[in-house]
Amino acid sequence: MAKPKEDQRGPKKDEAQKQKLTPWLAQLEESQQAKMPQWPSLQLPAAAAAARRATPFALCRSSSSSVSASPSNQDLVACSWQKEDEAEAQSLVVVGGGAAGVYASIRAKSLAPHLNVLVFDKGRFLSKVKISGGGRCNVTNGHHLEPLGMARNYPRGHKELRGSFFKNHGPQDTMRWFSDHGVELKTEDDGRVFPVTDNSASIVDCLLNEARRLGVSLQAGKAVTGASVTENGKFVVKVEKRTVDFVDHVNAKYVLVATGSSQQGYSIAAQFGHSIIAPVPSLFTFKITDKRLADLSGVTFPIVKAKLKLDGIKRSAPELTQIGPMLVTHWGLSGPVVLRLSAWGARELHQYNYQAKLTVDFIPDIHIEDVKRILFLHKDHHASLDGDMHWASIPNNNLNTVALRLKQWMFEVVAKGQFKDEFVTAGGVPLSEERYTFVPELATLWISKRTIDLSMTVVQVLNVDGVTGGFNFQNAWTGGYIAGTSIGTLASSNMRQQQPYLQLDGS
Ligand SMILES: Cc1cc2nc3c(=O)[nH]c(=O)nc-3n(C[C@H](O)[C@H](O)[C@H](O)COP(=O)(O)OP(=O)(O)OC[C@H]3O[C@@H](n4cnc5c(N)ncnc54)[C@H](O)[C@@H]3O)c2cc1C
Repeated sequence: MAKPKEDQRGPKKDEAQKQKLTPWLAQLEESQQAKMPQWPSLQLPAAAAAARRATPFALCRSSSSSVSASPSNQDLVACSWQKEDEAEAQSLVVVGGGAAGVYASIRAKSLAPHLNVLVFDKGRFLSKVKISGGGRCNVTNGHHLEPLGMARNYPRGHKELRGSFFKNHGPQDTMRWFSDHGVELKTEDDGRVFPVTDNSASIVDCLLNEARRLGVSLQAGKAVTGASVTENGKFVVKVEKRTVDFVDHVNAKYVLVATGSSQQGYSIAAQFGHSIIAPVPSLFTFKITDKRLADLSGVTFPIVKAKLKLDGIKRSAPELTQIGPMLVTHWGLSGPVVLRLSAWGARELHQYNYQAKLTVDFIPDIHIEDVKRILFLHKDHHASLDGDMHWASIPNNNLNTVALRLKQWMFEVVAKGQFKDEFVTAGGVPLSEERYTFVPELATLWISKRTIDLSMTVVQVLNVDGVTGGFNFQNAWTGGYIAGTSIGTLASSNMRQQQPYLQLDGS
């Protein structure tokens, strides 16, 4: 009989862990428990052999989801573990076929060609890559090639990613990888890197072709709805097809959770004992109901300096002041400056119900005293204003007001942009978790300390998110590369790694 292995962290640690879990996660766990039945006890009926698939991943299969809903169900089809042991001993299940999952699967399979790699995606593979960058896919950023400079673009992760993370696989490595695989890239003036075709299909096709060429099995339309570890240290992954009544139990030695911001992914990570920082939206526009903006709708300011001030927070972090282009929309403000502010202020803005003050300096390169001087000078030259009023007759006080308006225009942010325009989510498994470790001998290993026997779970649903400009994909490529390297290296060495663990930090 196979049943989930008991948690070995002890009651005290568990309690502390539970306290860390937010009410959000508690709710999530409840709903998942309602949806996800306990694992069925595995029996060994004669029918098992017939039910076994050719693929080494299949443990049990049933055409009825109710089969696995009840351990006592007579229809349960269970299979023998033994005959598949050899194949299972070298199998990896990747949950999620986004940028991180597919890149990781390619990396793992290239390092360990004998490894059976299976990627499940509940929808279509690389669907976000397809729609990203307005259909062009901003692959990475070419202006921040140093790890330190790179890390500064991650509101969540900037401290932890300062060290080894981008050294393992930074933007240059990403660009080299794509050009080595036939995708020509270009770097635009602002640092954003795109395929020269200006078509995200170049990236999608390249990744999927490479995965297939290596023999990675890509299974679309299948959701992983649970995962567990058996007494003999194997992972059992529950796969469901939503469109038809289909449940599959797949076992593997390595599991990589690369589900992006999906709640199911967080839930699986939580099942393996990880805590989750509650997700909140990042990268959104600001809703501002200010009549003065109405006439400016559609106007782009190439360079403004904008400062976000939250009522409940006295001291403003330096990152809450940003310089760059800003766009006036019919519902408020958008553009890179606003998106960056939304990312750095994501948690606080969520906490304060998206109520904040935004001060915009429309001419950041000119000091306010110079602005006044220029205005006064022009007044002296009798410029006319509006047709009705003569510039020369404007009182100096009014000119001061104009100067202030140009330099410190204050807007009230009343809400997050109403449309579903958030691009990323802040939240996930904290990078600081002691379970995340870096094994120096293998240079790129991030593994869970909860590694059981020779099995390993790696989670790429970390609390990391970047600003716009290709940084979010770079995080996915780097994380996927590290995860794939970890698993591929272990699989190819086929030995238990017992290196001393070092805490991953920003050093
Ligand atoms: C409209 C839009 C445009 C963007 N443009 C850019 C850009 O130009 N540049 C940039 O750097 N970033 C961009 N981003 C952000 C970028 O898309 C993400 O940071 C990136 O996709 C994260 O990759 P990922 O592999 O971690 O997650 P995802 O891309 O979200 O992939 C996760 C995958 O897991 C699957 N999945 C989830 N749960 C399960 C489950 N239980 N079982 C099986 N499969 C599951 C999902 O279907 C999904 O395919 C954009 C985002 C959006 C929404």
